[in-house]
Amino acid sequence: MLRISGIKLSLDQDERDLKNVLLTKLKIKEGELKKHQIFKRSVDARKRENIYLVYTVDVEVSNAHKILARHARDIDVAPAPSLTYEYVEPGKSPLENRPVIIGTGPAGLFAGLILAQTGYRPLLLERGADVDRRTKRVEDFWAQGRLDGECNVQFGEGGAGTFSDGKLTTLIRDLRCRKVLEELVRAGAPEEILYAHKPHVGTDILKTVVKNLRQEIIRLGGEVRFQAKVTDLLVEQGAVKGLVVNESESIAAGLVILAIGHSARDTFAMLHNRKVVMTPKAFSIGVRIEHPQQLINAAQYREFARHEKLGPAEYKLAYHSPGGRSAYTFCMCPGGTVVAAASEKGGVVTNGMSIHARNGENANSALLVSVTPADFGSSHPLSGIEFQRRWERLAFELGGKNYHAPAQLLRDFLADQSSCSGLGQVQPSYRPGVTMVELKKCLPPYVVSVLREAIPEFDKKMKGFALPDAVLTGVETRSSSPVRIERNERREASVLGLYPAGEGAGYAGGIISAAVDGIRVAEAVSSQYKPMEDGA
Ligand code: FAD
Repeated sequence: MLRISGIKLSLDQDERDLKNVLLTKLKIKEGELKKHQIFKRSVDARKRENIYLVYTVDVEVSNAHKILARHARDIDVAPAPSLTYEYVEPGKSPLENRPVIIGTGPAGLFAGLILAQTGYRPLLLERGADVDRRTKRVEDFWAQGRLDGECNVQFGEGGAGTFSDGKLTTLIRDLRCRKVLEELVRAGAPEEILYAHKPHVGTDILKTVVKNLRQEIIRLGGEVRFQAKVTDLLVEQGAVKGLVVNESESIAAGLVILAIGHSARDTFAMLHNRKVVMTPKAFSIGVRIEHPQQLINAAQYREFARHEKLGPAEYKLAYHSPGGRSAYTFCMCPGGTVVAAASEKGGVVTNGMSIHARNGENANSALLVSVTPADFGSSHPLSGIEFQRRWERLAFELGGKNYHAPAQLLRDFLADQSSCSGLGQVQPSYRPGVTMVELKKCLPPYVVSVLREAIPEFDKKMKGFALPDAVLTGVETRSSSPVRIERNERREASVLGLYPAGEGAGYAGGIISAAVDGIRVAEAVSSQYKPMEDGA
């Protein structure tokens, strides 16, 4: 198999044209090209008067070595590396009980899937409900402002990623990413996530995907329990011996994967009490910004803005303030909605999601400024959580104490004045609703000033970003974990037998990297222990 990169097609060309382009590029006859499949597809919109689709294609040809020799100086023609995931050899240490995984977000689900595929029959415990019941509770919160502290946008089957844009982009370079994408496709995600440069799934499809992953784990001998919150760890002589579920049921367990996400504040407190070593970690806070999607399409694609092959446009912007802090856009959701993502009563938290079609009126993105432990006001391991809580509670008060979010027009935020004139051309999508206020009252002053510097700079990079009617909604505090659970080279915490994984542990940021970290931890576990004979 050879990998051919840098193949450009204009927007008017068809993917069926790839075959002829390949024949010409490789200087071979039709009969020599046995098979070709797209490995990657991206959009090159750097020259906006001439937008291309750029392909990397894997080809099966006769006489591959001759073709390689003929193109020895062409960096676009190379052998295709193997994409097959290799399971690790099981270790020799015996297990007294089956492995337990806390959390069914991407980290927990993928740790569970790998362990199930290799015969360990894991038990997965999830504090929230299964995805169908969870959807009803989340909808109730968005419609009526009734927050369920145990089942919400952060907690429940599929974890924080279920109600999301389902963007599957990641900065990590790891062959396990391919394994994750393939399993997602097997569970119902669209096949194009295997090759799209910026793949995304959307909440509507993700709900089916997480359900199918659960069913596959069960089919392979695992067990998944919902509304099963781990409320305590049983630790003896520095090693985990078991768990307490819902403050009532004890489960013996010598091997526990902790995939709790970044919002399980009560669980972090319990871990701290059980002497699990944790350190505060930098993250970012800010607001969501909403523009008309059409404005973003026009800014990014100009006259091609409505081209069917391009879809709704995205953006990613960054600014480094002379004062040392950075502002950046994050988790941009084309054609999506801003969502109420609180998990703790008395706090307002924003985030963004979309359905697969990404056909909403507005584009939204987080607009964040970095904060570090030096900002938290204490060196306590959980000081970052207290810091988040402080701004979430202020946002709750400002919004009217009913989970309506504080919001402000961009023009008024920049001019440091209240938005008394009401809304303009952008209708905010956040439910249950927004209250127009001065956002500076629920953000640290340095975050406000860096955002005020950054927005005009972003407008220089992408015309229209500083649209006066754009709506800012706050507060976005859960950009990544405020805590890191320390782990050694075997990926084990200070309490032996406890394996932190994913975003909450501080080792991932996003669906794919959390899933990959779950796989890494499953590999660390299976390379040490052998599956139990009867798996019970
Ligand atoms: P989580 O997904 O947070 O899962 C942790 C799970 O553990 C939860 O289900 C929780 O209920 C459970 N749990 C916690 N404590 C306990 C306990 N004591 N007992 C039992 N269970 C427990 N990332 C992207 O890459 N692309 C996106 O488009 C994207 N959009 C997002 C949109 C929203 C609205 C949100 C909230 C997040 C989004 N993210 C996105 C981030 C992404 O969802 C997370 O990075 C990812 O889910 C982290 O995975 P995880 O498995 O580490 O933790």
